[in-house]
Amino acid sequence: MTVPSKEILLSVSGLRKAFGGLVAVRDVSFEIARGSIAGLIGPNGSGKTTVLNLITAELSADAGSIRFRGEELVGRRPFEVCRARIARTFQLVRVLPGMTALENVMLGRMFGAEPASPTVAAHEAEALIERVGLGGQAHMFGSQLTYIDQKRVELARALATRPQLLLLDEWLAGLNPTELKVGIALIRQIKAQGITIVMIEHVMEAIRALCDTCVVLNAGEKIAEGTPNAVLSNPLVMQAYLGADPGAEDAAA
Ligand code: ADP
Ligand code: MG
Repeated sequence: MTVPSKEILLSVSGLRKAFGGLVAVRDVSFEIARGSIAGLIGPNGSGKTTVLNLITAELSADAGSIRFRGEELVGRRPFEVCRARIARTFQLVRVLPGMTALENVMLGRMFGAEPASPTVAAHEAEALIERVGLGGQAHMFGSQLTYIDQKRVELARALATRPQLLLLDEWLAGLNPTELKVGIALIRQIKAQGITIVMIEHVMEAIRALCDTCVVLNAGEKIAEGTPNAVLSNPLVMQAYLGADPGAEDAAA
């Protein structure tokens, strides 16, 4: 598939969200080019997850605009955002515990952007389960899966909805070094398939390996934007990470 390299898929402008007196997201604007991987980074509590929650309409924006393929998303409901072809995973996983891994993924296909019958959904879910490295565990219940495997289910379920934009909230966190390599390769494959990705991530190795651009938040505000190398060597960004070297692995993330 050939696409113009600079086509803007997602455009966030003047986005704001306050929780009582706490302004979690303050006048944040950025654009995501179709086909790219963008990192959304910043210290804990800087508003990254809130931005994803605003894009997917889990939360309603106090001000600002979120345009996806030119259409306004502010004011939509979560299922409408899903059907507009935006899918996500959650920082705190949300797999349905009483359903099997396969059934969780089937739901994405049956109720996503291209709703399909259970038979078609099951067939595709099996392939996706393999692809995310869960082969052999398709019939285990969500509640029986390890945390990492639940994250794999969430990724497969997100892909099953047929997204053009995939939002990952610390999807690589908690993987061991071998799993991290596999995870990075998987995200690269998803991009190669033509899906645009916004990833919140603390694992800088993954940011450097995968991201075309990064947006950096601190205390709800965008403080930097650019290539991973440029933003990670930006003094403002280093300061935001409280003097920590953002090039260092955040093993605790
Ligand atoms: P990050 O993902 O960058 O760690 P979050 O977006 O989760 O940060 O949170 C940004 C700030 O908003 C934090 O201070 C957090 O405590 C607060 N916050 C997030 N969600 C809520 C909520 N639903 N109600 C109240 N405060 C919230
Ligand atoms: Mg978060």
